[in-house]
Amino acid sequence: MSYIPNILFAILLFVGIGFFARNVKKIIRNINLGRDIDRSDNPSERWKNMINIALGQSKMTSRPVSGILHIIVYVGFIIINIEVLEIIIDGLFGTHRVFSFAGGLYNFLIGSFEILAFLVLISVIIFWIRRMILRIPRFWNKEMTAWPKNDALNILYFEMVLMSLFLIMNAADYSLQQMGAIHYVQAGSFPISSYIANWLPQNEMTLFYIERSAWWIHIIGIFIFLNYLYYSKHLHILLAFPNTFYANLNPQGKIDNLQSVTDEVKMMLDPDADPYAAPAETDLEEAPEKFGTSDITDLSWVQLMNAYTCTECGRCTSVCPANQTGKALSPRAIMMKTRDRIEEVGKIIDNSSIEEFKEKGDEKSLLTTITNEEIWACTSCNACVTECPINIDPLSIILDLRRYLVMEQSSAPQELNMMMTNIENNGAPWQYNQMDRLNWKDEE
Ligand code: SF4
Ligand code: SF4
Repeated sequence: MSYIPNILFAILLFVGIGFFARNVKKIIRNINLGRDIDRSDNPSERWKNMINIALGQSKMTSRPVSGILHIIVYVGFIIINIEVLEIIIDGLFGTHRVFSFAGGLYNFLIGSFEILAFLVLISVIIFWIRRMILRIPRFWNKEMTAWPKNDALNILYFEMVLMSLFLIMNAADYSLQQMGAIHYVQAGSFPISSYIANWLPQNEMTLFYIERSAWWIHIIGIFIFLNYLYYSKHLHILLAFPNTFYANLNPQGKIDNLQSVTDEVKMMLDPDADPYAAPAETDLEEAPEKFGTSDITDLSWVQLMNAYTCTECGRCTSVCPANQTGKALSPRAIMMKTRDRIEEVGKIIDNSSIEEFKEKGDEKSLLTTITNEEIWACTSCNACVTECPINIDPLSIILDLRRYLVMEQSSAPQELNMMMTNIENNGAPWQYNQMDRLNWKDEE
């Protein structure tokens, strides 16, 4: 009978990790729906970016209050999870505080975890106040309703509950140690929970139940949190690392040219090329390349990973000049709609296959939810890319969608069509003939 908790724990561990592994597999499959691009260049720069931006959180502090609070929560999350290793070993083998043999180091670690847990709790409460009482505008944009709003709050509540349980568990443990209860080894230092212990009933059996309940709910909560990540913007906890590693290293103003168009222009400029030459046989056999993006399978895998990594923090939207001047565009919404579409396609593939989806589609696309108004409101200023704390690039998606509208659908706004016709015919954006195209400089 005494093995029942250990067996239950082993089942819990197996199910928790099993579901998590299944979700990770699904995310990798969905990211691989994107087309291939090579981001293996300059590995030293990439490692530097990942260490500075994902691990070091270097871009977070551009907004010091939220940045520092985020760093506390992040460091707390990582370090307190060392404790989870001990919980897992204790759960599997029926030990209690198995690492306590480390003596002074163990005491120091438990004391540090407690201080961090307390700081995380305070930070999360401040985050909640900023979101719900101070109502910081970027948390209340029109895309932040329903699930995105609840998701952000769910995680704050999760953190509050997990940190409180950790401290309550230690407080009960501390009291039981003081009473010399069997099984509760004298180990750890409790700078925060020793105060909480004063509020708990000083009865050994009650304390035992409090400690065990907090221990079990805490570890079950951690497994739920682990599996909740897949459905949440908090996937960035994991994906921020590959996302910063594989981010674009080109100067921000550099826009990728389409290879097929580049080749054609080069051919036009080549004095030796024969413009009337018949295309090579291999060219005739190949399906014509699609220009730009209408759905997620046209985006690159890095852009799809960007969508999964977006934390929905809204820093990009808060600096977007189009959004600030009341246009429909929000770069955060572009990332959210891309992720929603990936999930939609992912669910279709769950019940069929990637090949079948690519062949038949589902009569929807990214353009079902991202409107032309949003796409054409972008000024290509790159402010969103600069501001993003984890190097996400919403502009690249907007430009690819735009490229599709212009080159596949010829549906650019009238003003742009006129400008492009003028460039083609007159060598300038204006409706002057080539000889008069500098006339504008003489206008008063
Ligand atoms: S690049 Fe476009 S989406 Fe990004 S901030 Fe500038 S206008 Fe907004
Ligand atoms: S793209 Fe970056 S800045 Fe914009 S909401 Fe997502 S994580 Fe935040």
